[in-house]
Amino acid sequence: MNPLPAWTDDDQMLAELKSLRRMFHQRPEIGFHEFWTTAKICEYLSRLNCTLFYGDRLYENFPEPALLSQWKDNITDRVGEDEHTLNWIDQLNGRTGVVAWIEGGKPGPTFGFRFDIDGLPIAESTEKTHRPFSQGFHAINGNMHACGHDGHMAMGLVLARLLAEQAPRLNGNYYLFFQPAEETIFGGKIFSKLPFVKGIDYFFAIHIGLIPSRDVICGLSFLADKRYQVSFRGRSAHAGAEPEAGRNALLAACVAVTQLYALSRHSQGASRINVGQFSADNAANIIADKAQFELDLRGETNAICDYLDRRAGEMIRGAAQMHAVEADMTFVADAETAVNSPELMQAVKNACLDIGIEEEEIVESFLVSGSEDATFIMNEVLRNGGLATYIGLCSPTYGGHHNETFDFDEDLLARGVRLLYQLADTIMDKPRGKI
Ligand SMILES: [Zn+2]
Ligand SMILES: [Zn+2]
Repeated sequence: MNPLPAWTDDDQMLAELKSLRRMFHQRPEIGFHEFWTTAKICEYLSRLNCTLFYGDRLYENFPEPALLSQWKDNITDRVGEDEHTLNWIDQLNGRTGVVAWIEGGKPGPTFGFRFDIDGLPIAESTEKTHRPFSQGFHAINGNMHACGHDGHMAMGLVLARLLAEQAPRLNGNYYLFFQPAEETIFGGKIFSKLPFVKGIDYFFAIHIGLIPSRDVICGLSFLADKRYQVSFRGRSAHAGAEPEAGRNALLAACVAVTQLYALSRHSQGASRINVGQFSADNAANIIADKAQFELDLRGETNAICDYLDRRAGEMIRGAAQMHAVEADMTFVADAETAVNSPELMQAVKNACLDIGIEEEEIVESFLVSGSEDATFIMNEVLRNGGLATYIGLCSPTYGGHHNETFDFDEDLLARGVRLLYQLADTIMDKPRGKI
């Protein structure tokens, strides 16, 4: 492959960022199905001076064979792709996500940067006021990059390119994590177990959007999250002839839902409870023998989330007992909270000032009422003696995150790349206590 052309000014860098973002925007793929997306990331990175870990080289014993063959079966959308992309898709062998390793020319610390790559299963707006539609780069496959991960990938690739081009003068090692399946809070946990994570001294995650300003947040915190599939099993019976012979799972589920929302909140911080996908398939003349719903529990700290988890279990079992049915809570996914390292938050602030961001546009910390699975990677880095922080690159989001009219200000992508590069450039040759 030919090397990428070197750019000479910021306008060219922004043009490259926009063109990458728009390419990814047109073809969003949901968690662990980012085959085309990963192929395109690999295609770009393979033209840089870096080592790639993907497919079988990335994951050991993941996923289990049944799940892998299910994912592989979903690689259907191959029409119209050039041979090079198809070749990359084949090389992934059913596994998505990629890690790029760039080795600096001099010894130094190990950096980790995380960029999430998945889209959401919602159809994008075709309103004229929605810029991706009016400018012709909207998605048409029923999914949407409605959380800005298209922008994250663009930043990750351009950062990789800057680092790779500058590698001879850089100290240390640089791992760029292009992580699948953030939206299902599943990919971060898998990536946190990758062998590269343990050796990271400085770890940064970044998210665009969040609050409608142009602020940079030095340390974002997220709610811990636990998701369950809850099911009730009773006994069906004729609703008219012999209702007393039934055990009503639907009623038990209804009691559980109302009581879950009535759980006491916690004095130590924010919490959230929500139920979705409630269903019971029986006809109206049959006492329902089955009912199920999805449960989402969130807390400002892991302890608050654990408290909700324990109390929700008690409520669900109690509701089941009231109606003499069986209840089962199947764990689906979770996310932790993570504490941002003050030293790195300060480094982010310094780097912002270095690249000309005004002091009033810099926010020290902010609690996002959503959840994030990069926290698993952050906690693994912190457990092994490294430092970590999650940066917020704020932008107006128009319809808001996870909405069909979500969009962001693309010029901020250049700000994000410059900030991450500046962080590496200023930290790489300083001892840990002096950053
Ligand atoms: Zn999201
Ligand atoms: Zn997101």
